[in-house]
Amino acid sequence: MTHESGVLAGPGLLIHGGAGSFSNVRSPADAERLGAAMEAALAVAWEALARGGTALDAAVEAVAAMEDSGMFNAGPGSARNTRGQIETDAAVMDGATGAAGAICAATWAANPVRAARLVAALDHRTGGPVLLAAGGADQLAESAGLPRMRPAGSVAGGVAGGSGAGTVGAVAVDAAGHVAAATSTGGREGQRPGRVGDSPIIGAGTWADDATVAVSATGIGEAFMLAGFAHRVDWLLRGGADVDRAVIDALTAVAERGGTGGAITVTPSGRFAVRFDTRAMARGWRDASTCTVGIAGIAGGQ
Ligand code: ASP
Repeated sequence: MTHESGVLAGPGLLIHGGAGSFSNVRSPADAERLGAAMEAALAVAWEALARGGTALDAAVEAVAAMEDSGMFNAGPGSARNTRGQIETDAAVMDGATGAAGAICAATWAANPVRAARLVAALDHRTGGPVLLAAGGADQLAESAGLPRMRPAGSVAGGVAGGSGAGTVGAVAVDAAGHVAAATSTGGREGQRPGRVGDSPIIGAGTWADDATVAVSATGIGEAFMLAGFAHRVDWLLRGGADVDRAVIDALTAVAERGGTGGAITVTPSGRFAVRFDTRAMARGWRDASTCTVGIAGIAGGQ
């Protein structure tokens, strides 16, 4: 298992661009392009935080930037199902309020993460949903004026998608010590139409609670769902584990259910842990003093 951890100096965020083999990243130029897209997403989100934005703003902006790049298995770059169609899933969760929103098997929004944020704004206490599927999600996105998706091709940018990796996610902590998480994916390459993985399932691929931790996962979604992965990390922290230990144990639970993958996590005090048991995971983090991105092995700082 590759492992990186540390403490963010004040507000900051971590992102991932999927776990897998990254067999489509064949040359240093491919890796450089992917790294540049990650750095651009970190920069956009960091600016949001530096302007006084919330952790939720930062997580959403980072994920939207990766969707916009078309280089990841999310939004326009999404993988295709067996019918050659794109079906997108996304979720957001705000640790400050406990509000969460998600969409699945959706096709309208170019930025599924923004559609998920719209769902999060529909108060569940007054009858609003937490998870909206397919046509319902599309109708909400269209009526809110979100731009329509123009698919960039199943392996847009020539990276990640075809390897089954390339899901994107972000976790952030803001100046007030609030945390948030966001995840967006086109699912698995060649998946059965209607198949939905862990990414939009609150407590599986996405979770945030100011009492504990923000989590965004990537990998074989079925095993992450069966392990209750993201909420398992939270539960282990509540039992006294530190965030490193919690992520190790939760990924072990995924492995026991036949899955591989990784996760990014951050606590309200800025302690973070990144882990994956695949050959590679695109990931990076940024705070006031560091900007680090990596794909395989140990991430390098700048
Ligand atoms: N977890 C995502 C899913 O199962 C895919 C991935 O992260 O690569 O839909």
